[in-house]
Amino acid sequence: MPPQHPTKLMMECALALPGGTWVHAVLRFMHSTQPPIPSLLEAQVCPAEILASALNDKNIARNIVRKYRMQVVQPRLAIVDDKEYEVAATKVLPGLGCSYQDLCPIRTNHAWFDLVGYLPPTAWDTAKIWNFVRMTGLWPLSLFIQSEPVPNLSVCPLCGQTSIQVKHAFIQCSGTADLALGTPFLASRDASNCGTDDILLSMLFHSSTEGAFDAARVEYVGRAVQRILLSHLM
Ligand SMILES: [Zn+2]
Repeated sequence: MPPQHPTKLMMECALALPGGTWVHAVLRFMHSTQPPIPSLLEAQVCPAEILASALNDKNIARNIVRKYRMQVVQPRLAIVDDKEYEVAATKVLPGLGCSYQDLCPIRTNHAWFDLVGYLPPTAWDTAKIWNFVRMTGLWPLSLFIQSEPVPNLSVCPLCGQTSIQVKHAFIQCSGTADLALGTPFLASRDASNCGTDDILLSMLFHSSTEGAFDAARVEYVGRAVQRILLSHLM
């Protein structure tokens, strides 16, 4: 970077400030990863003479930065990402009694686009609820009011059961049973009264299946949770 380039001047200024700046935070992070992320100069992504010519040629400079980003930075960030995902995905979700990894053992991008043909536009709020529940196992109060999500509600406003976790909404609550009518979940929901929650939980949250089934379970879970929370907040 040319000596008088505004970004270079800003970096030098930030580095000189006491007390730590965003530049210090980035440098600390680069040294904290395993393996550490080297600087562009340390990474030696191109010969020194090409690096020198980048001082006067924006295109060369842009290509060097792209190469550094793709070959050096992104692979290391992907390792960091994988490790953090591993830790977060293996925590037991309080309201479901299993981890996110149990529900989604293969880490893939969920094809939300596939739901477009199946989920009516008015039901997209249920997709948000379904996904929130699957990732946290909590009551998604934060989607309705300014509040933290919580693991338990003191009492169900529909059936009166006390200390209910979120799975109560789509597995046990008599006040949401009608939402399962005409869905593939009705039989398993009835069976859950005999203590086989796990089968229904798998049907409702495990991996991705196919568009119509995914849309049905998204809408069922979303509507059940929504009904209880809206009554709870009245
Ligand atoms: Zn209930």
